[in-house]
Amino acid sequence: MKLNKHNELVDKNLEYVWHPFTQMGVYAQHDPIIIQKGSGSYLYDTKGNKYLDGYASLWVNVHGHNNKKLNKAIHKQLKNIAHSTLLGSSNIPSIQLAEQLVKLTPTRLQKVFYSDTGSAAVEIAIKMAYQYWKNLDPVKYKNKNKFITLHNGYHGDTIGSVSVGGIDAFHKIFNDLIFENIQVDCPSFYHSDYETEEEMVESILTHIDTILRERSEEIVGVVMEPLIQGATGLFVHPQGFLKGVEQLCRKHNILLIVDEVAVGFGRTGQMFACYHEDVEPDIMCLGKAITGGYLPLAATLTSQKIYDAFLSDSHAKKTFFHGHTYTGNQLVCAVALENLHLFNKHKLLKHINKTSKTLKRSLESLNSHPNVGNVRGRGLMYAVELVEDKETKQPLDIPTVERLIMMCKERGLMIRNLENIITFVPVLSMSNKEVKKMTNIFTEVLFEVLGKA
Ligand SMILES: *Cc1c(COP(=O)(O)O)cnc(C)c1O
Repeated sequence: MKLNKHNELVDKNLEYVWHPFTQMGVYAQHDPIIIQKGSGSYLYDTKGNKYLDGYASLWVNVHGHNNKKLNKAIHKQLKNIAHSTLLGSSNIPSIQLAEQLVKLTPTRLQKVFYSDTGSAAVEIAIKMAYQYWKNLDPVKYKNKNKFITLHNGYHGDTIGSVSVGGIDAFHKIFNDLIFENIQVDCPSFYHSDYETEEEMVESILTHIDTILRERSEEIVGVVMEPLIQGATGLFVHPQGFLKGVEQLCRKHNILLIVDEVAVGFGRTGQMFACYHEDVEPDIMCLGKAITGGYLPLAATLTSQKIYDAFLSDSHAKKTFFHGHTYTGNQLVCAVALENLHLFNKHKLLKHINKTSKTLKRSLESLNSHPNVGNVRGRGLMYAVELVEDKETKQPLDIPTVERLIMMCKERGLMIRNLENIITFVPVLSMSNKEVKKMTNIFTEVLFEVLGKA
């Protein structure tokens, strides 16, 4: 693109666009990257620079950018229709996709409720779970209005999803608007004072058990990100935690709601994180990679038992009064179907398990560096936590972290940090060679800025 055209876009970007999760006062001080096109694992900007997509365009991209098959699926659907409503009518791709999703997810999940963002999928899960108990028995379950949640949980940005989230800063601003829940510790061993992982898991599970014994008549269910709490710092749960929570939900007869918006669709090396521990949730939220990173779609899957509690012969009785305008949109469902088809065709899970080893090995080789406090992750979701001091675990200062991210960009790698935590969440189809290139660029920059050892 010609430089004057680029400059014009830079000006208009600042004049008209308010960017999400962005302090615009700071953003305005830097020359922004404006993406013009994509191809495979790469993004290209208006200045002609090329970047390896190490954050999968915010954890969504599966088969690479500008994928011919996904493009074709959209074109093919467009020849019929782009959108009609699921309110009162149905459509072909939404039916086909629902069948596929029910077959792919754990057995207990039998029904699909569509929406458009991960936040909405969680919002729906919360309302559905709450109403489920009221539908069963409004008198017996009249006090059920709270969820057990995890500290450092992230479930989206709408008021309901913030309410079940565990980010203190978000809660502080909206304290008057959000509803109350019961929060337990995040099972992140590195950040805990426990001697062993087993001891930590045992202690948090015992805490949940105690809460449930004392207050189960108030509790609707547990809402959690299974295996990895992504957006707050990529906290990886030890093996057995998820299973333990499931067992407690069964023991006390409350619902287990898992938010697989980030970890679903192969990200952790299994199609869904629940499969790592053979867990059967009552409700599962899906989003992000569901369309291969093409279009906004989300889904809330639920059990036959929950679905049945909403049945009646009158429109106004027990009905779930919730639905977004573009729910089950044909174009979006068509690309999601092709995404699932390609997953199989390219044996993507097998590929991820191979490239994951490369990612893990390369990042773990940095463990001896004095500023690398912790390397953690599963599948193609890894984090390097940078510290000033390995003993005190004091976070590396943010300007230095930002400098590292900036230098990675200058060398052709797009990655993001969550405070002092550098995250590697690449395009799922990224080749082994590209994964190596990604970690090489980061390593080079790390050594240059912070010294070699
Ligand atoms: C991204 C994310 C969400 C929110 O999804 P949006 O599409 O951004 O609304 C919810 N839960 C988890 C675990 C996420 O990672």
